[in-house]
Amino acid sequence: MLSFDCTEVAFRGKSDAELGRAVLLFRLLSNPTLVNAGSRFASACLSLGLPIKGLIKKTIFQQFVGGETRDSSMLKIQWLADRKVGSILDYSVEGKKSDQGFEETTLEILACIATAANSPSIPLAVFKVSGLVTQDVLIRQSIQLDESDLEWQKLKGRLHRIFCKAANLNVPIMIDAEESWLQPAIDRLAEEAFLEFNATGPLVFTTLQMYRTDRLDYLHSLWNRAETMGFFPGVKLVRGAYMEKERQRAAEHKYPDPIQASKANTDRDFNLALDFIAQHIRQGALVLGTHNEESCLRLVERMQHLELPPEHSRIYFSQLLGMSDHISFNLAEAGYRVAKYVPYGPVAELLPYLQRRAAENTSVQGQTGRELALLYSEFKRRKAKKRP
Ligand SMILES: Cc1cc2nc3c(=O)[nH]c(=O)nc-3n(C[C@H](O)[C@H](O)[C@H](O)COP(=O)(O)OP(=O)(O)OC[C@H]3O[C@@H](n4cnc5c(N)ncnc54)[C@H](O)[C@@H]3O)c2cc1C
Repeated sequence: MLSFDCTEVAFRGKSDAELGRAVLLFRLLSNPTLVNAGSRFASACLSLGLPIKGLIKKTIFQQFVGGETRDSSMLKIQWLADRKVGSILDYSVEGKKSDQGFEETTLEILACIATAANSPSIPLAVFKVSGLVTQDVLIRQSIQLDESDLEWQKLKGRLHRIFCKAANLNVPIMIDAEESWLQPAIDRLAEEAFLEFNATGPLVFTTLQMYRTDRLDYLHSLWNRAETMGFFPGVKLVRGAYMEKERQRAAEHKYPDPIQASKANTDRDFNLALDFIAQHIRQGALVLGTHNEESCLRLVERMQHLELPPEHSRIYFSQLLGMSDHISFNLAEAGYRVAKYVPYGPVAELLPYLQRRAAENTSVQGQTGRELALLYSEFKRRKAKKRP
């Protein structure tokens, strides 16, 4: 039976000094007051032009980011590849607001697709629709579709270039899921892409956040449409990253909370969705985006039950760089396909991404504790091994 407790595999290739730095970082991240203050301090320093980039680069950036550019991320990508783990280049710059900014992001995504096509260790590409258009456009198109909207048509043009390149170079491409008030427009774009690009196999992937109460029904209806309209849906399954924001907005605007009432309910729907896609994998493809050990073990067990080989070409496990290496490396060692998101971009522009990782590691119950426990256990194992 696969286990995630093998710290030798999890931390292979990390020096004692690197483990020590990770311990220090996760200990800092386990302190919410410090994380809050640090986050605000970093934003303030960067906006005032104070020299804090070096400190960020040596600490949180080093743990969670590939590099400032695609090229400088290749070292980490090779390091992962040496451990049988693939990478997904994630251009994580957020908040662009002009046509020029959206064009730059489009070009960067096209370059990521080209890089993936030339590298067996980059099996998938990814992007966020909100990096290609203003949120206002996604909000209004989510309320009422208006094909005559010029900005919407410009977005569609950018997406078409991205999907055509992915199709020409045969690089599967995932669309990240975002806040529920942007998601109806993103769902529509994903399904249009399914019709155009997934007729012979799962090239484009949508993302389903199972912390939403409506996503299991959506998954079933998507599968029905796939059957009647003739496409192969790719699905990345995640629990969802914007819970607090979602609950707060629902309360402020007085509409029903779209998020599950409890973590147990989110876990239930996540498991049901995972079971469903594994069962119907011939009609689609699955990327399981999670740091939850039980969920990963559940998919392993389902695959064994359905007699699907670990290296099944339509099933990927995925984690974020710097998190849950014990899951990624142990799965890869056992022959499963694993790919980690490798975010990259200039330090200042990646701050929102880093702040989310810091907050996540502070708030996700047990996440930091688990990372620390594994690091301590690896130190102990190495010490015992050195003893005569
Ligand atoms: C490869 C990868 C890609 C990702 N892509 C996306 C993406 O495109 N869009 C996106 O939104 N997120 C994305 N995420 C983040 C993801 O949605 C989760 O926030 C994160 O992975 C934590 O969930 P978990 O399954 O790893 O761990 P767990 O610790 O098992 O779950 C934590 C999650 O459970 C849910 N939860 C916690 N408490 C409650 C509660 N009281 N009630 C209901 N639900 C609760 C929340 O979603 C929380 O994030 C991605 C994550 C990974 C690893």
